[in-house]
Amino acid sequence: MKPHEHIAGFGTTDGELQIGGMSLTRLAVRVGSTPFFAYDRGLLDARVDRLRAALPSRVELSFAMKANPMPAVVQHLAARVDRIDVASGLEMQTALDTTMPAGKVSFAGPGKSPAEIRQAVAAGIIVEVESTTEFGRVISAGNELGLTPNVAVRVNPDFAVKGSGMRMGGGPQQFGIDAELVPDVLRDYATAGANVLGFHVFAGSQNLNASVIAEAQRRTVDLVSALAEHLPTPVRYLNLGGGFGIPYVDKDQPLDLDEVAATLHELVDGPIARRMPEASPVIELGRYLVGECGVYVTRVLDRKVSRGKTFLVVDGGMHHQLAASGNFGQAIRRNYPVVVGNRAALASGERATVVGCLCTPLDLLADDVELPPAEIDDLIVIFQAGAYGLTASPTAFLGHPPPAEVLV
Ligand SMILES: *Cc1c(COP(=O)(O)O)cnc(C)c1O
Repeated sequence: MKPHEHIAGFGTTDGELQIGGMSLTRLAVRVGSTPFFAYDRGLLDARVDRLRAALPSRVELSFAMKANPMPAVVQHLAARVDRIDVASGLEMQTALDTTMPAGKVSFAGPGKSPAEIRQAVAAGIIVEVESTTEFGRVISAGNELGLTPNVAVRVNPDFAVKGSGMRMGGGPQQFGIDAELVPDVLRDYATAGANVLGFHVFAGSQNLNASVIAEAQRRTVDLVSALAEHLPTPVRYLNLGGGFGIPYVDKDQPLDLDEVAATLHELVDGPIARRMPEASPVIELGRYLVGECGVYVTRVLDRKVSRGKTFLVVDGGMHHQLAASGNFGQAIRRNYPVVVGNRAALASGERATVVGCLCTPLDLLADDVELPPAEIDDLIVIFQAGAYGLTASPTAFLGHPPPAEVLV
């Protein structure tokens, strides 16, 4: 993957990167300050359309909000996807502010507080229980409020998915209830005052290997079909997880969505239709929906040469876009795609290292990359910033002001 492929996603006109149909320089004036994050609604729509075209129509798309909780982004997606998955009380409030019906919002995550559980039950959203303690708390909240809570059981599968950037299922996990314990848990809790809609299995994240994802989905459907026999009512909610990855660095090959979709067609028409005819199959995506639709824009504050190496010092850094610095769970630091956004027609010209304004060597945004010669006040753009950007960064570190965020 070459940087120009990302420029192609956004487009360029007269050497300027275009975001939401506006030149970067003009957008920077519109925003009023750098650094900033910009998310392109046209690209968000194109991504949803691409998924809809590939996946079986019966599959519902859920947005995992933790990837990008900016309210405008969530509002935009709420009108285009079928469900929203939240992982905190604040995310739940953001989801409930949208047009998404409460019954289409689900709440996952270990360690939901008793207060968050009461809020979720009062709201009428689906609580994905991750332990028997949580199951008990949900039922008590329902009793107390005179409501029957909607519940799905998050299952820690008895298989692991290879090649995930982050594994979140298989083996011992803080996530979900171990698959082998689920029949007993259902016996004890399913008729104790909750409306158990079905199951959620999420095996891992950032997977670029379609056949591995497909295999995980097959095994998930097998597992849930077996567990379904222990549920007193038919399965109505079948959250198959997701884990669709996006390419971040040169060596990453984009996910073959059509291959993943082919397996989903097989499963929906075969075992799901036969064994769980009332179930809504759900694919839950964070970064695949939003990651490639966003950029992080910084301005060059200084340009200096130290013993033959050229440094571009920008006004942003790892405190806003930790992932690009390689400090968000990556084993090896690799460069995210980067361009000089107001000189986007020029692919190269010199080798430069882009560093942030923090006083730490960790604050490295691009190490020894080909860029057109950049000057002070030029705009350096880092791609793949639409997911786990600002939301996953240590904004308080060194006390700089927060960046702006815009949806264009
Ligand atoms: C984080 C998370 C997601 C989203 O992961 P992505 O890699 O961004 O798609 C989906 N489901 C659950 C349960 C999660 O915790």
